[in-house]
Amino acid sequence: MSQDQPPDENGNEHPVPRDADPQARARALQSYLIEEELLTTDQIDEVMSLYEDEIGPQNGAEVVAREWVDAEYREWLLEDGSAAIAEAFGYTGPEGTDIVVLENTDDVHNVVVCTLCSCYPWPVLGLPPTWYKSPPYRSKIVKSPRQTLRKAFGVDIDADVEIRVRDTSAEVRYMVLPLRPVGTDGMSESDLAALVTRDSMIGVERLGTKHVEEL
Ligand code: FE
Repeated sequence: MSQDQPPDENGNEHPVPRDADPQARARALQSYLIEEELLTTDQIDEVMSLYEDEIGPQNGAEVVAREWVDAEYREWLLEDGSAAIAEAFGYTGPEGTDIVVLENTDDVHNVVVCTLCSCYPWPVLGLPPTWYKSPPYRSKIVKSPRQTLRKAFGVDIDADVEIRVRDTSAEVRYMVLPLRPVGTDGMSESDLAALVTRDSMIGVERLGTKHVEEL
């Protein structure tokens, strides 16, 4: 049976992309690597649990909260992101040896994409969400960032705020430092970290704005 979709109402064919079932492809690849004794199931389980339990946006959130309360740390972070993150928190490793931190300000909003594939700062954000890897996000956020942020993410960036779209690559991984939400003076570093979301560190969310709208 063909895997292709039936023709649409205009009679046009739509072949299913080769990566239509990434899970099946990953399973096949896993079986092959185990069969060839290149990997063991224990090694796979170890990596899976690492990324499920220990490496994720909670790491980046700690970095952001520290930056909000410590001006010296902020300077270090903006000057040498990888070192400031690795030396202060120990977050380093695959896909994160060269992390550049982008600071949002009242005048500039940064948003991160990998136009080629799915490059992402793993040690601070974990594995990328599916939409980050999708062709529509990768093209639309570059072509019309303001409109895409509004339509796809419900984020309205004022017309007088410049939006900078940064293209992550295999070498350089970007992470956004979101603006500290108003009304959070005096909060502890760990309480502040709890406010920081994954999406705000990609740049597709502005912290605190949803809350303000609800008031
Ligand atoms: Fe990539």
